[in-house]
Amino acid sequence: MKRGKLFVVMGPSGVGKTTVVKAVIKRQPIEARLTLVASYTTRSPRYGEQNGFDYYFISPAEFEEKKSAGFFLEWSCAYRGCYGTARDVIARRRTEGFSVVLVIDRHGALQVLEKEPETIIISLEPPSLEELERRLRSRNADDEASVQFRLERAEQERTDELNSPIAQFIVFNDDLETTIARVQDILVQCLIED
Ligand code: ADP
Ligand code: 5GP
Repeated sequence: MKRGKLFVVMGPSGVGKTTVVKAVIKRQPIEARLTLVASYTTRSPRYGEQNGFDYYFISPAEFEEKKSAGFFLEWSCAYRGCYGTARDVIARRRTEGFSVVLVIDRHGALQVLEKEPETIIISLEPPSLEELERRLRSRNADDEASVQFRLERAEQERTDELNSPIAQFIVFNDDLETTIARVQDILVQCLIED
């Protein structure tokens, strides 16, 4: 069986990565065989988030253990909390013929690219910082300090990407339906390419 591909959707917190990727996965043509692999995090679950579906919620001690054991393909503690993706799960799904999508920050995307140079990276960008702030607030998930931190981080990652680009595709997430269609087009195009 042909090995699945690896995609990363990166972009600032609150830009809409999760919303867009979940919609694309839900609406994918059956033959696309795309799967979203949930990350591990030390942050607390938000209202409605399910363990094992949105994230695997673990303690900082468990995260450290996994990190030391080489469990993560990549990890980032750039936010308040640590986040990482499971190396073995990703490898297994790809061997089974599924293409994997990771929703992670740029710091993690860089590590993935170093280990898996064939990775296709899509950067989702907000129409403006004001709109990003509005979305972060509309999610009702972060306190004021966390919103401010995420906005600062967004500017930092944007500068890093401008100085040293790693994304093959840039999609402005303005109108949601247009973005979903565009990301779906990119994924399907990459999947049928070879
Ligand atoms: P991320 O995964 O990048 O942190 P989310 O998917 O959680 O972001 O989206 C953040 C918020 O923005 C959510 O409330 C979501 O419904 C909203 N959102 C996502 N895309 C759009 C869009 N194109 N227009 C308006 N709101 C959006
Ligand atoms: P949130 O707390 O809003 O769910 O996520 C904060 C940021 O961490 C987002 O930009 C999100 O994409 C990123 N993130 C989520 N999971 C991972 C992961 O496994 N690795 C990395 N590097 N970043 C992640």
